[in-house]
Amino acid sequence: MAEIQLKRVTKRWGDFVGVQEFDLEIADREFLVLLGPSGCGKTTTMRMIAGLEDPTSGDILIDGKRVNDLDPKDRDVAMVFQSYGLYPNMNVWENIRFPLKVRKVPEAEHEERVKRASAMVELDDFLHRKPAALSGGQRQRVALARAIVRTPKVFLMDEPLSNLDAKLRVSTRAQIKNLSHELQVTTIYVTHDQIEAMTLADRVVVMKQGIVQQVGTPTDIYDSPANTFVAGFIGNPAMNLIDGEVVDGTFHAGGVEIAGVAGVNGSVTLGFRAEDARVAGDGQGNIQAPVYSMELLGDSTMVTVRAGGALIAVKAAKDYRTEIKAPFGAHVPASICHLFHAKSGERLV
Ligand code: ATP
Repeated sequence: MAEIQLKRVTKRWGDFVGVQEFDLEIADREFLVLLGPSGCGKTTTMRMIAGLEDPTSGDILIDGKRVNDLDPKDRDVAMVFQSYGLYPNMNVWENIRFPLKVRKVPEAEHEERVKRASAMVELDDFLHRKPAALSGGQRQRVALARAIVRTPKVFLMDEPLSNLDAKLRVSTRAQIKNLSHELQVTTIYVTHDQIEAMTLADRVVVMKQGIVQQVGTPTDIYDSPANTFVAGFIGNPAMNLIDGEVVDGTFHAGGVEIAGVAGVNGSVTLGFRAEDARVAGDGQGNIQAPVYSMELLGDSTMVTVRAGGALIAVKAAKDYRTEIKAPFGAHVPASICHLFHAKSGERLV
């Protein structure tokens, strides 16, 4: 059991607020991802949970017990960092065993536990190597094995994939997902990569400048972003966002005329996803604009046009071809459009 509660947790350094009134309950065994751009307070939040940083105010509870004053070693959390933090003089076996020694786990159990952890991350053949003789991905897996060699109450993972190349990142991500399913330990995972967040999380917390913007399942966040920041951060490509005016139920921006927009009037930001628009042919559809770029993605062709003062991406069929500057028409049903407040960016519809 490890339920974590953050109650109005705030971290300040002088006048600067790194994390502001973070309020959240993390369920036992939940995989929670903290997502946001560099400097938004993800690592600080995690370090406060680990006990490596003191909150300026607010409470942190693990299993209902306030841990603000507990040392990191007494919180029973295991951390994995992007920098691995391996001991260079120890071989893989010794590195993985290290937490067992520190925690004074009986010697007789070490062999079996290290074997099991190293097998889980497929490191069995590397146990006698020193970290210097391993690839980045292998080192990362040693760091993972070291975290899972004993079963902590909580795993804290801070951008554990950021030093890996694109391919290894995908396979290690799958491995983390699989491991978390096996281990069933409450996990808090920090990343600025929205794909990692979407693929790994039970729930995602999107942060900006120390303030939580939205908490929800990946589907909630993708389908119903709370504001333009979340809409523009999640998805690849991010949601198209166009500033314009709604007059008598029709949204207008240069080259964009979407009829049937209900519930608002005046200035708004309209949003829709590239996959929700379809190619409609020149002169047809409710978006008309010249092609700005065309990207072949293998399973689809991404066409970008410049309209309404924004770049708008439309996902077309894999064999669709056009040319830069060619006239282009696309259709977006009003029913799938999101409307956001023009100034605050908060979701309206
Ligand atoms: P990244 O993805 O770049 O690691 P992050 O979201 O994890 O970013 P944090 O490391 O939590 O961000 O930092 C949040 C903010 O707090 C940043 O603006 C950072 O400069 C500031 N900050 C962090 N530590 C300190 C400190 N010791 N003193 C002053 N400001 C700090």
